Amino acid sequence: MKTPIERPKRREASDDQQELPPTKCQKMVFLDCDKPVRRIIFECYHCRQGIIAQCHSNGNLQRLEPACPNCGKSAIRLETTEVFEITAIPSPWQ
Ligand SMILES: [Zn+2]
Repeated sequence: MKTPIERPKRREASDDQQELPPTKCQKMVFLDCDKPVRRIIFECYHCRQGIIAQCHSNGNLQRLEPACPNCGKSAIRLETTEVFEITAIPSPWQ
């Protein structure tokens, strides 16, 4: 019996991606990952404002785009149940 070959197409795709120029990236730190309420520190995608968000997940995930307190645009895309606090902080990466 042959064993199924694992992920040949995915390997080709990642080879292709390595040849693309680097895309815009966003720095994030997850805190309290083992607790119901997690804290996430990140920079706004648009203006790089440092932000700390509290969110919780009960398994009912949805795509959320909380607004940046500084520029008002979508600061980040999160897949979680609810974001209930979002606060501007000095960015730890600047
Ligand atoms: Zn912003």
